[in-house]
Amino acid sequence: MPRFTRQSLIWSLGALICIYVCAQTWLSVQWLFTSIRDSVPPSSTYSPENHIRYEREYTTLIASAGLIVGLYVALAFSRQWLKRTSLTNASANASSLATDDLPATKETSTAAPYDMSPQPQPLSLPAWFIWLRQIWCYEYRPFATTIQAGQGVILLTFVGIHIGLIVGIPLASSSQDDPFFHHQLVSNRVAQMALVDLSVAVGLSVRTSIVWRWLGLSDLRSTITWHWWFAMAGYVGVLYHACFQWTKHYYRHYLEKQSLILVASATDLGNPLDGAMFASMTWWRLVISNHHYFTGFLMSICMAALWVSAHPIVRTYAYSVFRAVHVGAFVGLALVSFWHHWVLAYFYISVLGLWLVDVITRCRDPLVEVIGLDIVAPQLVQLQIFEPVHKNTGRPCRPSGFYPGQFAYFGFSRHRLFDLVWSQPFSISRVVKLSPGHNDDTMPGLSGQPSVISLYIKVSGKRTQQLYDMVSKNSKDAWPSVRLGTPLGQPLAMWDRFESFPVIVLVAEGIGITPWLSVVQAMSQQQQPTCVYVIWTVRDSSSVRAMVQDTDLQHAQWRVHITSDYASIPSRSPDQLDAIDYHHGRPLYTKLLNDIRLKHPKVNVLLGLCAHDDTIATCGNLARSSKFSHPHAFWKVKTERFEFL
Ligand SMILES: Cc1cc2nc3c(=O)[nH]c(=O)nc-3n(C[C@H](O)[C@H](O)[C@H](O)COP(=O)(O)OP(=O)(O)OC[C@H]3O[C@@H](n4cnc5c(N)ncnc54)[C@H](O)[C@@H]3O)c2cc1C
Repeated sequence: MPRFTRQSLIWSLGALICIYVCAQTWLSVQWLFTSIRDSVPPSSTYSPENHIRYEREYTTLIASAGLIVGLYVALAFSRQWLKRTSLTNASANASSLATDDLPATKETSTAAPYDMSPQPQPLSLPAWFIWLRQIWCYEYRPFATTIQAGQGVILLTFVGIHIGLIVGIPLASSSQDDPFFHHQLVSNRVAQMALVDLSVAVGLSVRTSIVWRWLGLSDLRSTITWHWWFAMAGYVGVLYHACFQWTKHYYRHYLEKQSLILVASATDLGNPLDGAMFASMTWWRLVISNHHYFTGFLMSICMAALWVSAHPIVRTYAYSVFRAVHVGAFVGLALVSFWHHWVLAYFYISVLGLWLVDVITRCRDPLVEVIGLDIVAPQLVQLQIFEPVHKNTGRPCRPSGFYPGQFAYFGFSRHRLFDLVWSQPFSISRVVKLSPGHNDDTMPGLSGQPSVISLYIKVSGKRTQQLYDMVSKNSKDAWPSVRLGTPLGQPLAMWDRFESFPVIVLVAEGIGITPWLSVVQAMSQQQQPTCVYVIWTVRDSSSVRAMVQDTDLQHAQWRVHITSDYASIPSRSPDQLDAIDYHHGRPLYTKLLNDIRLKHPKVNVLLGLCAHDDTIATCGNLARSSKFSHPHAFWKVKTERFEFL
C-alpha cells in the first residue's frame, strides 16, 4: 500500500502544477499562433515608403547594469565602513568586556595551525539592529522548506526593480504609435534585463572571487543563493522574450519580408499572405531564416537544460548529472550567445572576468597524496592528507593557514577535468601541525612545518559509497590521491569570527559535527578564555568515539544525545570519553540554550548550527529573540548547511 508522506504530497502537487502550466502554455502558444494571421496586415499596405522601422534602444540594459554596479560599490563601501567602525568600537570596549563568568586566561598556548586573530573583539550593536534582525531573519518552515521573513521583502524589491526598469522608462516615439512595436520594445527590454540578470548569476556561481570577498561573501553559501535568484529572474525574462519572438515577431517579420519582396517586384498576386505564403512556411524554415532566430532557438535549449538540470529533484537523485549538464549547457550558451546579438558581450564580461578566472584557478588546485584513509565507524571514513606545499620551496601553498569551520572541495579522480566538474565539498575537521623536525619520504624537500588535514566522510550517495567500498576492500595501492581546492568559508569581518566571542555554543546533528571539531580544537589552542558548549545528537555512539578520539575534550563541555541504541552508550571508563555527558533521546534545545543563557547573561555568544533544518530554525529563532539578544548580550547565529540551496 502506498504510504503518503508530506514530502510525497508536495512532490505530487508540484508535478500536477507543472503539467497544468505546460498544458496552459501549449494552448496559449497555439492560440497566439493562429491569431497571428489576423494581426498581419495585408501586403497591399506595405510599401518601402510607409514601412515604419523599429527604433533600437538599450536604456534598460544601461540602467540595470548601472544600478548593479552602483549597488555593488555602495555595499562594498558600507561594508568597509562597518568593518572599520566595529574595529574602533571593539578597541574602545575591549577593557569593559565582562569576563566574570569566564574561565581564567591561559598561561601558555601551543603552536596553532589556525589563522586566528589575537584579540577577541566584543560586539556592541544598537537595539534597533537586534530588533530588526529578529524580524528579518525569523525562519518559517512551510512545506518542509525554510523561508526567512526578510526574503519576502527582498523578493518584492527585486521584482519591483525589474518591473520599474522595464516599464518605468519612457518609450521611444515609434513604439508609442504602433502597438506591435510597443510589445517588441517591452520584449527587448525584458531580454536586456535578463541579460544583466544572467551575467550576474554567472558571476555569482564561482566558488571564490575577490569581487565577492569585497562584499563579505566569502563562500559559496551566500553567493549560490543569489545565483539562484538572479538565474530565476533571467529565466523568466528569457521565457517572455522567446514567447514574444516565437508567437508574434518571427512570423510577422518573415511575412513582412516576403511582402516587401513581392511589392518591390510589382507582382500582382492578390493577397498571398492568406494562402500560399502560410502554406510554404515550416517551423524549420522559419528558425533558419534569420541568425537571430536560430541562435535564439539554440540558446533557449541551453537555458531549458540549465533550468531542468538544476531542479532539486535532479540534484537530489543525480548530482553528477546536474553538474555535467549544467556546465555543458552553460558552455553551449556562452558559445552561441555572441552570434545572437552583439549586446551579449555584457555576458562575456562576467564569463571571462569571473567564471573563467575561477576555472583557471581551480585547474591549478594541487594534487595531494593521501596519508590515511580508514573506516572509523560504520559508513564513516576518515581521510587524512598533508597540507599542500610548493614543489620547489616546500613551503605551504596557503601560508595564512586555515580557519576553523572551513570546508574545501575535494576531487577524488586523478583527472584535472573530472575534478573540475565533480569535486565534492567536505568540512575540514582537524589541522595538526607536525613537529619541526618531522621528515617524511612522501614529501621530499619539505622545509616548513607541514600540517595534516583530517576530514570525515559519511556515505550518503553513489560516490561516497564507492570510496567507502574501496577503503573496505583495503586496496591500499588503489587509494586515491586527492585534489584539494581552496578552503572556503573564511569570515572576513570581526563580528563573524569565533575568537570574537567569549562563549560559543555548537549544535550538531549526525555528521554535522565535522565543522565544529575544528572549532573546538582551535578554541582549545587560543590564549583568550572561551567557554565552548557542544550539543551533539547522533544515532549511535560508535561514531562519537571514532570522531572525537583525536580531539582534546577537556576544553569544551560535551553533551551527546544518543537517539537509538541506548545500550551502546559506553560505560564510564577512565579514558577521555569520560568528559562526555551522555543522554538518551533527542535534546530539548529550548531548555538547553536557556540554561546556557542564564549562565552567561551579559556576554556575546556565538551559536553554531549544523543540523536538520527544523533544529536550525528552532535554535536560530530562539537565539535571535529579544530574550536572548539585547544590547547587553548578542547571540550571533552561524549556520552551516550541507546543501547550498
Ligand atoms: C559545505 C559542505 C560541507 C560538507 N561537509 C561534509 C563533511 O564534513 N562530511 C560529510 O560526510 N559530508 C559533508 N558534506 C556533504 C557531502 O558533500 C555530500 O554528502 C557528498 O558530496 C555526497 O556525495 P555522493 O557522490 O556520495 O552523493 P550523490 O549521490 O552524488 O549526492 C547525494 C547528495 O549530496 C549532495 N552533493 C553531492 N555532491 C555535491 C557537491 N559537489 N556539492 C554540494 N552537494 C553535493 C547533493 O545534495 C546530493 O543530493 C558537506 C556538504 C557541504 C555543502
